[in-house]
Amino acid sequence: FVGMEAALTFSTGYMANIGVMPAMVGRGDAIFADRLNHASLVDGALLSRADFTRYPHNDVAALAGAMAASTARRKLIVTDGVFSMDGDLARLPGLLELAERHDAWLLVDDAHGFGVLGPHGNGALAHFGLESERILYMGTLGKAAGVAGAFVAGSRLAIEWLINSTRSYIFTTAAPPLLAHALLASIDLIEQGDDRRTHLADLIQRLRNQLALTRWQLMPSCTAIQPVLIGDNNEALAAAQALDAEGLWAPAIRPPTVPAGTARLRISLSAAHTVEQVDRLAAALNRLERSAG
Ligand SMILES: *Cc1c(COP(=O)(O)O)cnc(C)c1O
Repeated sequence: FVGMEAALTFSTGYMANIGVMPAMVGRGDAIFADRLNHASLVDGALLSRADFTRYPHNDVAALAGAMAASTARRKLIVTDGVFSMDGDLARLPGLLELAERHDAWLLVDDAHGFGVLGPHGNGALAHFGLESERILYMGTLGKAAGVAGAFVAGSRLAIEWLINSTRSYIFTTAAPPLLAHALLASIDLIEQGDDRRTHLADLIQRLRNQLALTRWQLMPSCTAIQPVLIGDNNEALAAAQALDAEGLWAPAIRPPTVPAGTARLRISLSAAHTVEQVDRLAAALNRLERSAG
């Protein structure tokens, strides 16, 4: 489904990330990670004991400089496919080019792309039309797929290696078969879900068109994650609570989940939402911003 030779499943995405990274690199090797990566990728990097360089968000030039300066034997670039608190996409073509130039692995955590991006929901790699033996593609199964768990896909050789060396795969009980059956139904729905994806894309555009914010800022995202940057923690919390009182759920995300001073409402749209609901959300946000200011 994601265009890879082989895959293995994990009980959660967190388990996948903290297992795969130490299996791929260790002491004396180097990890290059986007500064806004998901916490599980940070923990995986720390567990691996590899040198850990975090490059500025989506800054391919900075990453190129850091990789050129590295003398590590094995190198691993790690990135979210869709950044979970910002909603923007990783510059995957540029990252893959660097991986090729420096003989490195590229691990893509597509928790928010799998099932949504690409022609049939195949994810961020399909969205960019990328294919490479250097890529390890990780997707979670509890978000768009609506079940639970995660998988990592790659070349047959890479997956054989992971089966034999990933501690969070080996030393924990496998997910029950009932999840596999539920997932098969999910995959069918995802594959035949073009109408749902079109509806979702319409909702995203509609929300972006209808918001007329001046102090708060709609962040540049083309995905279902549409954060509204507020800045101040208390103002973000008050906005979330005011929305909640109207039956609208957009949680306030604050540090340390996001950098200090960038508290935000994290709106996540879904194909299950209606046009009317999005209109109501946009109207409420426009009104709340004015009354808060
Ligand atoms: C949710 C998420 C995870 C963790 O997946 P779980 O299955 O919930 O453990 C990992 N990475 C990203 C980017 C996520 O959004």
